[in-house]
Amino acid sequence: MTAKRLRVHVDGIVQGVGFRPFVHGLAREFGVSGWVRNTGEGVDIEAEAVDLDGFLTALRARTPALARIDTVTLAALEPLGDKGFVIQLSAATGGRRTLVSPDTATCADCLAELADPADRRYRYPFVNCTNCGPRFTIVTGVPYDRAATTMADFAMCAPCRQEYDDPTDRRFHAQPTCCPACGPRLSLLDRAGTTLPGDPLLAAAARLRDGAIVAVKGLGGYHLAVDAADESAVARLRGRKHREDKPFAVLVPDLAAARALCAVDETEAALLSGSRRPIVLLDRRPDAALAPSVAPGNRYVGLLLPYTPLHHLLIEAVGRPIVLTSGNVSDEPIAYTDADAGDRLGGIADAFLVHDRPIHMRTDDSVARVVTGRAQPVRRSRGYAPEPLRLPVECSRPVLAVGAELKSTFCLARGRHAFVSHHIGDLANYETFRSFTEGIEHFGRLFDVVPEVVAHDLHPEYLSTKYALDLPDVDLVGVQHHHAHIASCLADNGVSEPVVGVAFDGTGFGTDGTLWGGEILVADLASFQRVGHLAPVPLPGGAAAIRAPWRMAAAYLQAAYGDDIPVGLAVEGRNAATWTTVLAMAARAVNAPLTTSAGRLFDAVAALVGVRDEVNYEGQAAIELEQRADPAQRGAYPLSSSGGVLAGTDLIRAVVDDLRRGIAVPVIAARFHRGLAAATVRAAVDAASTAGLDTVALSGGVFQNVTLLTLVIDGLQAEGLRVLTHEQVPCNDGGISLGQAAVAAALPAYDSGTGR
Ligand SMILES: [Zn+2]
Ligand SMILES: [Zn+2]
Ligand SMILES: [Zn+2]
Repeated sequence: MTAKRLRVHVDGIVQGVGFRPFVHGLAREFGVSGWVRNTGEGVDIEAEAVDLDGFLTALRARTPALARIDTVTLAALEPLGDKGFVIQLSAATGGRRTLVSPDTATCADCLAELADPADRRYRYPFVNCTNCGPRFTIVTGVPYDRAATTMADFAMCAPCRQEYDDPTDRRFHAQPTCCPACGPRLSLLDRAGTTLPGDPLLAAAARLRDGAIVAVKGLGGYHLAVDAADESAVARLRGRKHREDKPFAVLVPDLAAARALCAVDETEAALLSGSRRPIVLLDRRPDAALAPSVAPGNRYVGLLLPYTPLHHLLIEAVGRPIVLTSGNVSDEPIAYTDADAGDRLGGIADAFLVHDRPIHMRTDDSVARVVTGRAQPVRRSRGYAPEPLRLPVECSRPVLAVGAELKSTFCLARGRHAFVSHHIGDLANYETFRSFTEGIEHFGRLFDVVPEVVAHDLHPEYLSTKYALDLPDVDLVGVQHHHAHIASCLADNGVSEPVVGVAFDGTGFGTDGTLWGGEILVADLASFQRVGHLAPVPLPGGAAAIRAPWRMAAAYLQAAYGDDIPVGLAVEGRNAATWTTVLAMAARAVNAPLTTSAGRLFDAVAALVGVRDEVNYEGQAAIELEQRADPAQRGAYPLSSSGGVLAGTDLIRAVVDDLRRGIAVPVIAARFHRGLAAATVRAAVDAASTAGLDTVALSGGVFQNVTLLTLVIDGLQAEGLRVLTHEQVPCNDGGISLGQAAVAAALPAYDSGTGR
């Protein structure tokens, strides 16, 4: 019976997540001697026993909740005959390459303490442990220990220190460990910043019940809260925020409360109550007790469950659902510093529920939904970032991918790891652009990535492109926008072989200088070929046409009928003042770039049928058109194609014919969706058979349309094709940076400094 000794190196998210105590416990259980310690690049273990199989199997099978093992490498050593197993605290503790985990919802153990009158953390709004609590939002630098978090100024009291130092304790090396005696504290302030008397939490809850708007400092920024059933309060919030139609998210205490407002299936319940806690878009019940202004004209409502002890205590004290929406005005980024919140939210909130733990990284709530039984991200942020995604190919050199412009994210990659940033927002805003550049620097330090290759969009006017082009001493890789969408979907699914890619979105810069957006590609990670697209139409007024869908209706009518547009259409009547000017603009191609955008086709139809002439937020016309579509309708408009070019005008003519016959809008909306879906399936099937491929990847923001997505998936599967959709990053431009990084990783290595 000779003993064996192994050096076990574990890579992944293995620091700050209770991994060493876990290994310590396993070693005791399996009679293993040796040690465990953090290194600069993960965790090292030396393990000695006659039989190490059980220990090694359990290491992978029973990984702690927040840990994620990427690789385990083994090397044989000479047995030392040591006794016992120790956690070594020396070595390169908390090294540069460790993976910071996302912020994680309060765990069951901590909730039990929160509710236990005998516990020293009873009702303490900042209870956390190794298995839960703030991480990404409080980390200021590396190595990851308390000094490099916003908890640095809170000196641990003796009982907390004892827990923190005890390898068998749930709080062993949990950096945000604290208690009422030594940790952050709540206060309630009025608009002038004066502290209000009484228990801050109970006083805030009382104000919410009275219809006040309360700013709440959360994990990644400030939220604005208001009673979700009080129409006058919600309408007041909407007015003060200048947010005309965009839906508000609603915080509910538990799943039962969620089910009282919305239909919630098992997958949705798991998503709502899981450790990441995104806002989940759900079908609202007709009788849901929600103020109409929460989500005007919307069949869906975004619900979330509490994810910090503060939110648990607050919603319990209020006793009913509350709106919890980003603390900002209009489209500005969410406020996250106390000074900023005071300045920007002073005109909106009646009171401020704040605390003295600084937020280092501004991070919005994530948004997800379930489609065909699977969770799909709409916005990937708090609870998800900065967990690395695995690239299907390895980067030979460190990569920065700067993303697009709207719904901006960036991505840093080295080896097989892709660190996609939290949601940054619309880069056109100066403050957002600053978050973008500071975020890139922060991620670079945190994950030890010094980019040598920088991937960017081809659009010369995107601030992200300009930023990339200004970076010194890097090799640049320009990635076409829709190729990036398809590459993103491939990377999301761990696929690197060629596929047919359907990329439908608003607009993206094409290789021919026109604005693409209704594209059929044959693509792998390194290259693509455009094999089909919607027929181009003018975008009269450029960006003005994106804000005013009726302009797209005019452009499409002219493309369909030339000078013989049917008279008496309501859309013309509603926009008579500028109708002929816009038509002339389109006809003469003055300030009217050509576009093949699928999003603009939805806009045209939405305006034609009177759903929406102008939008207040991106994608609004398409979203409202989808909501009007009658799910029982089985008809579909024809859409012809020739040489891979799809005649969108066929759909326009069919819509006009039905309008003039007096067919109801929900029927027209459904026939339009079904016609476009059928044509998309046909085009993809043709492309697949020509190219000898059996897989189709669907990406681009238009596939947030569940009706279209479901019809296309069903159609392709019925033809025997494998369908790839997004599960880890959004199909919208929030996923572009991952795609760009995957393209850069897949390109053949070239000599440094030569460019491309
Ligand atoms: Zn916990
Ligand atoms: Zn303490
Ligand atoms: Zn796009």
